[in-house]
Amino acid sequence: MLLTPQRPCFYARLSYAPDGTLEKVERQQEDGEATRGRLNWPEFCCVYIDNSRSAWQRNRKRPDWERMLVTFDATGQTFIPSDPKANHHHDGIMVYHGDRLIRQPYDLELLLRLADQRQIPLASVSGVRNLASEDDRFVLRIEAAQACRESANLSRRRTNGYKKDVVRHGTSQQGGKRPYGWGEPTGRFKTRRDKETGESYEVEILDYDKPVPEETKHLAEAAARLLAGASMNGALRYMNSVSTTTEGNPWESRVLWSVLTSPRISGLIEVDGVLYEAVWDEVIPEEDRQALIALREQHRKENPNPGPARVHLLPGALKCGRCDGTTWRSKPMGGKGRNKKPGYNAYRVYHCKQCNVARNVEHLDAYVTGRVLRLLNSPRFLRELQSAGTDGSPDVAAKIAALETRKAQTKQQIEELADHPDVDPALALLSLASFDKKIGELRNQMALTSRQRLLTRMVGISKDDWDVEPIDVRADTVRSLFEVVVLPTQKRGPGFDPASVNMLRKPLQAE
Ligand SMILES: [Zn+2]
Ligand SMILES: [Zn+2]
Repeated sequence: MLLTPQRPCFYARLSYAPDGTLEKVERQQEDGEATRGRLNWPEFCCVYIDNSRSAWQRNRKRPDWERMLVTFDATGQTFIPSDPKANHHHDGIMVYHGDRLIRQPYDLELLLRLADQRQIPLASVSGVRNLASEDDRFVLRIEAAQACRESANLSRRRTNGYKKDVVRHGTSQQGGKRPYGWGEPTGRFKTRRDKETGESYEVEILDYDKPVPEETKHLAEAAARLLAGASMNGALRYMNSVSTTTEGNPWESRVLWSVLTSPRISGLIEVDGVLYEAVWDEVIPEEDRQALIALREQHRKENPNPGPARVHLLPGALKCGRCDGTTWRSKPMGGKGRNKKPGYNAYRVYHCKQCNVARNVEHLDAYVTGRVLRLLNSPRFLRELQSAGTDGSPDVAAKIAALETRKAQTKQQIEELADHPDVDPALALLSLASFDKKIGELRNQMALTSRQRLLTRMVGISKDDWDVEPIDVRADTVRSLFEVVVLPTQKRGPGFDPASVNMLRKPLQAE
């Protein structure tokens, strides 16, 4: 049911059309009149026009907007008796676009509060909203938030010359922390002042658009190792053996992930969520960057709280048969040094944190390793891996890259069409969300294939080769293949009872 007001008013302000030209207020008024006729609304009682170019900015004065608000004050207490456009009520608002009136969430809230429970229709060429309807209020709030963001983007684009350069020329922002892999010396210097001592000193200006080959080489190597199934710890060991960060610090996983997954590494620059081609060459292809992003997600899922580097093979793969606990640590038994019990050899146990079920580390490692190697060397497993690996990861990565591009294009379109009456911001947000969902699904698939990539590398491995693999690669392999359930046992004494563990194969197809 559409409401028809008895005394509507019209509000317009100067605004930018999608092509960047100013939209004439007269044109807006004509369109408003046409819509009024279409909706069978009576003549406008008052017409409000703000001519400020930045009427959407919160701190700018918008005299007509203020006057119009007054006429929606239900109490009439703020009426200005001497002002013919602020001394009576209106019961409907027509704007040129739905979001004209409500560029700022703050403005919308003000209007909603003033309108209170009254049935005030807010009309634009794109439709009529009822300010008293909860559904409509919800949509208006989304639109206002969206419009606010677009405006902020618009103003940032205008004030930030560098972003124009990014879009037009693909050059990056200079200054600030140097991105690892870029920043060739220019031979020019600038003067800096030490904030504490007040002394001036010279620093050489670096060009962040030019790669530093010895550094990009390391980035490519670290990326290749990760994509070949090496662990993050392995990649960190490599990076730390060849360099520090640009700040002179040792590499940490958070920093390395962010360097390896930033658009810069595949020759792109991101501005407001949109990727642009940069002037420099890619260090790794965009598909590989997408694969690394998926790996990072997988890594985050598996290590919500990255602890110290792993030193034992099994804690991540163990489950307690008594309490279902999955938090295990290894601790020494039998005493050490002065505490060493006579007649006992010191040994370590895996220990369930919840219920104290424990198992000898050395024995369990040896048993599990034997089972893992047997599986990795069985022809049946190779066949299984081949049939599971049909959704090749380069393919998935390419799909993700393509989706990301389409998402970026959609985002850019929304931004450009923010002032277009036919674009429903709420729908546009939904379509962006659906991209995110699809990309998320593909990422999961890719995480699965990164596991397959690791297993493909390990298949057929000999005991000697296994022993020299880093502990985290071995641990990842075990965890990819088995859940090791440690059963409570009555058996005491030396040796290992295979019946005291239950090794459950994990399927390759699904987590
Ligand atoms: Zn009026
Ligand atoms: Zn337990």
